[in-house]
Amino acid sequence: MTKTQENHFDVLVIGGGPAGTTVASLLADKGRNVCVLEKAHHPRFHIGESLLPMNLPILEKLGVLDQVDAIGIKKYAAEFNSQETSLAQDTFYFSKATNAKYPFSYEVRRSEFDEILFKNCQQKGVTTLEGMTVTSVDLNDSIKKIHARDEQMNQHELTARYVIDASGRDTVLAQQLGSKKINPKHKMAAIYGHFKGVQRRTGNDAGNISIYWFKHGWIWLIPLKDGTTSIGCVCWPDYLKSRNTPLTEFLQQTLALVPEIKERMKDTQLEGKAQATGNYSYQSSLMSGDGFLLIGDAYAFVDPVFSSGVYLAMQSATRGAELVDQLLEDNTHNQSLVRQFEQSVAEEIKAFCWFIYRFNSPALHKLLMSSDEAAQHPTKQKIKSAVISVLAGDAYNNKAIRIPLRLFKLLYSINKLAAFNKNYAFNRFRKKQNKAD
Ligand SMILES: Cc1cc2nc3c(=O)[nH]c(=O)nc-3n(C[C@H](O)[C@H](O)[C@H](O)COP(=O)(O)OP(=O)(O)OC[C@H]3O[C@@H](n4cnc5c(N)ncnc54)[C@H](O)[C@@H]3O)c2cc1C
Repeated sequence: MTKTQENHFDVLVIGGGPAGTTVASLLADKGRNVCVLEKAHHPRFHIGESLLPMNLPILEKLGVLDQVDAIGIKKYAAEFNSQETSLAQDTFYFSKATNAKYPFSYEVRRSEFDEILFKNCQQKGVTTLEGMTVTSVDLNDSIKKIHARDEQMNQHELTARYVIDASGRDTVLAQQLGSKKINPKHKMAAIYGHFKGVQRRTGNDAGNISIYWFKHGWIWLIPLKDGTTSIGCVCWPDYLKSRNTPLTEFLQQTLALVPEIKERMKDTQLEGKAQATGNYSYQSSLMSGDGFLLIGDAYAFVDPVFSSGVYLAMQSATRGAELVDQLLEDNTHNQSLVRQFEQSVAEEIKAFCWFIYRFNSPALHKLLMSSDEAAQHPTKQKIKSAVISVLAGDAYNNKAIRIPLRLFKLLYSINKLAAFNKNYAFNRFRKKQNKAD
C-alpha cells in the first residue's frame, strides 16, 4: 500500500470527472494510494447539469453535499411537455417516489460541481495530475503501466496494481481494447447553449427540469443558480443534416418551433456560442479484466433524456471502489465479486434504457403524458410512483416497483397495439434515421 517509488500507486484513475473523482476519493478513504490523471484543468466546461435524487446519498458519503447545495438549485421534479397529447404538461415530483427519503436533487454548473469533487479527492490525499493525457495502458503484467503526455509534450510512465478508466466519452480503454460498441438503434445528436433571461416556473418548481417532445426529437431546459438556463435539443440525424445556417441561428430556429419555449425565451440572450455533440449511445463489451475496470461514460453512455449520466457514473464508481479495495486486499474470490459488480452496474443502466429507447415512440409519449389520471386511482398511483422511482435513480433492487413497472410496460404494449399504424410508422422512421451516417 505504500509507495515503492514516486510514480507507483495502488490505483491509477484515468479522468477526473464525477466517476474518476468519486472512485478515487472512496479508495483514498480506505487508505489506498491513488493517482488521478486528468487531461484538462478544473474548473472546465462539461455538459450534463441535471442530477438525480439518488445522487444525494453518494454526495453525502463523499462529504460534499453542503458544497453542492451552495452552488446548485433544488430540483423537485421532472416536467414533461407535449404539443401532441391532450394533457400539455405533466410533472413528476420525486416526493411521490416509492422511497421519498430524497425528494429533490440539484441542477448544477458542471464546471463548479466537478471542481468540488476534484478538490475533495485532493483533500482526501489523492495525487492529482492535471493537463496529463493518458495515451495508452499496458495491461499484460501484474503491474499495470500508464503512458501519458503532459502539455509540454513530455512523456510520462506511471505504474499501479489496478487501473480504473473513468475517461468519459473519450473511452480510453474501450478504444484501446476495441470493445466499444455503438448502439445502432440510438443515433441522435445534441445542440445546446446557455441562455440568460429564460422564464422559469414559480416557487419550488423554479428548479425543475423541463423536457419537451417535438417533431425532431426532444428539448431540455435546465435552470441554473445564477439565472442562466441550459437549453439543448437532441435531434434526429436527418433534421441536423438539413442545417443551412450557423449553429447558433439553427439552435434558435429549432427552439422557436415549440410555441411555449418561444414564449419562455422571448427576452433571452445566448451566453457564448451554441455547441454540438454526438449523442450516440454505446457500451463496451468489457467492463473489467485482470487489474482494470471501466466506470461511468468510459463504460457506457445512454441518451441523457432522464438525466441519468452523472448518477450512473458516480454509482458505478461507488461500487467500483468497494470492488477494487477488496480485490487489492485479497483476490481469491475475485470472479464472484467482479460478477456481482458487473451485474449491478448493468442492471442500473438497463432500468433507464427501457424508457430511454422508447422515449420518442408515440406509445410511451402518450402513456407518460396521461399519468395525472393517477391522482384518482390507487393502482395508477402505484404505477406513477414506480416510474418516478426510476426517474429518481432508485430502480436497482427496489422490490416495491417491480409489479407496478410490469403493469406500466403492459400498458405500453397495449398502447402500442391500439395505435398500431402510428407506432409502426414511427419504427420505420427510426430505422431510417439510425441507418443515416
Ligand atoms: C448532450 C448531453 C446532455 C447531458 N445531460 C445530462 C444531464 O442533464 N444529467 C446527467 O446526469 N448527465 C447528463 N449527460 C451525461 C453526463 O455528462 C455524463 O454521463 C457524465 O459526465 C459522466 O461522468 P464521467 O465521470 O463518466 O465522465 P466525464 O464527466 O466526461 O469525465 C471524464 C473526464 O476524463 C477526462 N479525460 C478524457 N480523456 C482523458 C485522457 N485520455 N487522459 C486523462 N483524462 C482524460 C476528461 O477531461 C473528463 O474530465 C449529458 C450528456 C450529453 C452528451
